Amino acid sequence: MRPHAPGFDPHHPPDPARIAECVHCGFCLASCPTYLLWHREPDSPRGRIDLMRSIHEGVIGLTPETVRYFDNCLGCLACETACPSGVQYGLLIEQTRAQIERHVPRPPGDRLVRWLIFQLFPSPERLRRLLPLLRLYRASGLRSALHRLGLLRLLPAPLQAMEALLPPLPPRGVAPLPGHTPAVGEQRLRVGLVSGCVQRVFFPQVNQATVTVLAAEGCAVVVPPQGCCGALEFHAGLEERARQRARTLVAAFAATPLDRIVVNAAGCGATLKAYGALLAEDERWAAPAARFAAAVRDISELLAELPPRGQYHPLRLRLAYQDACHLQHAQRIRQQPRAVLQRIPGLELVELEEAEICCGSAGVYNLVNPLPARELGDRKARQVLASGAAALASANPGCLLQIQSALARVGRSLPAYHPVELLAASLRGAPLARARG
Ligand code: SF4
Ligand code: SF4
Repeated sequence: MRPHAPGFDPHHPPDPARIAECVHCGFCLASCPTYLLWHREPDSPRGRIDLMRSIHEGVIGLTPETVRYFDNCLGCLACETACPSGVQYGLLIEQTRAQIERHVPRPPGDRLVRWLIFQLFPSPERLRRLLPLLRLYRASGLRSALHRLGLLRLLPAPLQAMEALLPPLPPRGVAPLPGHTPAVGEQRLRVGLVSGCVQRVFFPQVNQATVTVLAAEGCAVVVPPQGCCGALEFHAGLEERARQRARTLVAAFAATPLDRIVVNAAGCGATLKAYGALLAEDERWAAPAARFAAAVRDISELLAELPPRGQYHPLRLRLAYQDACHLQHAQRIRQQPRAVLQRIPGLELVELEEAEICCGSAGVYNLVNPLPARELGDRKARQVLASGAAALASANPGCLLQIQSALARVGRSLPAYHPVELLAASLRGAPLARARG
């Protein structure tokens, strides 16, 4: 076991050897959203790594003053992509966050907001129970009235952010996903689908589209009964809760033989692929978790592996594809979503300026740090509008909501889709539903 590090406890502190891999070159600075916003060294990847080193050396402590620089980090991992020395910043910040959660008390308001978030979002049952209230809130005209009168500005910033990010409500009576869907034609693979929490309740059409496209491409799709994958808790440093969710999810998918495990939300996918590391010290679960993680594929990753078999009909659309950070940086998946979208005749893909920069969504970042998240969302919305695109696609529900909310602030609205919705519409040869926007 490591000797006790001042400020960090001995349970997996950020590893001094990994910290030492940072050579201070600064190549990461231009990709870091918080450095772009504030131009302050401690709000850059290099600065945060230096803070970790100083805490190890006892020069500074793990105090509320230092914690704010770690809290400001979006965990977007653009710095990992930019770093020529291969510094594993993601691991360092995850380990730092777990230490913070164990040792640094938060102000009561912060604690309440975080408690609310972690009670609600990882629970599809609670989210579902909220739906009738949200329908009433919209249908009664209360929402429009509160906006018109400016009364929402009286709420604390995180609640204002939550309200602004309310997702569109799914149609009533959407059928649940079938437990098993056969492949169309000869079966190439048997895959399990991770249906997500927010995705399953608020965007059931994305899961339906995922099943449609997978089946058309020769995959039998199994959707076992399942809970939350633990992504939000994992990225927030709530290690033990994330581990427990990982064990439960691995068990849920172990009941049936599967060639691959498919996920359509980038944040969840990055966490599922880390299950092996998350449960590495768990004697009972280490091997099953490693097998599970090795089988996980983002939907675009799996589709790119399979030579296309479906009949894709034209969709005349100028589309901006926004890379979700947990896809492009955490999973290094950039080319595959573009490649599968280009299977759609008539679809014109446009690239955004600053595509490597986070939109400010970043899991629950836009709820716990609403002001910088809003600035980053506005910056991304300006780039989307400058691209001249008629619609937006991204592989993470949080990114779509964040950019939609920023577009709404400037009085512009664009339809927004998960790429798999576009593929499913193209397979059907049907016009696109204006799902969001
Ligand atoms: S994860 Fe993102 S916000 Fe955090 S230091 Fe790296 S680039 Fe900056
Ligand atoms: S690019 Fe890598 S090595 Fe250079 S300062 Fe950033 S984290 Fe350190």
